[in-house]
Amino acid sequence: MTAMVKAEAVHKYFGHVQVLKGIDLEVRAGEVFCIVGPSGSGKSTFLRCINHLEQINAGRLYVDGTLVGYREKHGKLYELRDREVAAQRRDIGMVFQRFNLFPHMTARENVMEAPVQVKGTSKREARDRADQLLDRVGLGDKRDGYPAQLSGGQQQRVAIARALAMDPKLMLFDEPTSALDPELVGEVLDVMRDLAQDGMTMVVVTHEMGFAREVGDSLVFMDDGVVVESGSPRQVLSDPQHERTKSFLSKVL
Ligand code: ADP
Ligand code: MG
Repeated sequence: MTAMVKAEAVHKYFGHVQVLKGIDLEVRAGEVFCIVGPSGSGKSTFLRCINHLEQINAGRLYVDGTLVGYREKHGKLYELRDREVAAQRRDIGMVFQRFNLFPHMTARENVMEAPVQVKGTSKREARDRADQLLDRVGLGDKRDGYPAQLSGGQQQRVAIARALAMDPKLMLFDEPTSALDPELVGEVLDVMRDLAQDGMTMVVVTHEMGFAREVGDSLVFMDDGVVVESGSPRQVLSDPQHERTKSFLSKVL
């Protein structure tokens, strides 16, 4: 089985502050991999490293068997050029807590933007694909709406469609429902569940333990820059082995 993401002793510092203190994990192709943990434990930083929005300081990080941001030659690492990094990032979709849609563009234009600008897809083809994807996330009738005219849940679904428009092999979700009113969480999780059923490889940072348990294949609990505990969601959530995991879960469950 191919690892879609492989982290080996990944370290990340911001100045003197060590935020990731040796992360080892493996995300298999096609699985839903959930990351839970308290605020400040390094979850977002780790996702950002996978997508090369941050550069790691030590260790190795691979996506689909390829080193992220570097080329290794005779045991030495050489930084990739911007163009090569951009090519790596193109294959990875990311959905943030805040929807980050372009406010002056309609839903459809938001979804069309990257394929047209980055991939050079024709407008006509990008529009057809955008409409398909908006249908898929249940927003076919909102394609001409602007972000401000959409609810938070609808905006987040557009953001998911926008990430999918680049045909990513991996989707990263950073607390995609944390900014939503409770009644809008379900519609976003439904879209994610649908994607998972379709076989998309997904790394999901979430506080939605119900989703993790039901849809997740693997789960890690992170605290203070390390993976404290990992296993199947059921196992970790129902029978945590470490004090820190127990204490965290008692607060969120
Ligand atoms: P989480 O997503 O688990 O809440 P983060 O990865 O956002 O955690 O943050 C982990 C730690 O790294 C926090 O202490 C945060 O303040 C720090 N941090 C995150 N980004 C930066 C940055 N760009 N510069 C300095 N410190 C940062
Ligand atoms: Mg975070």
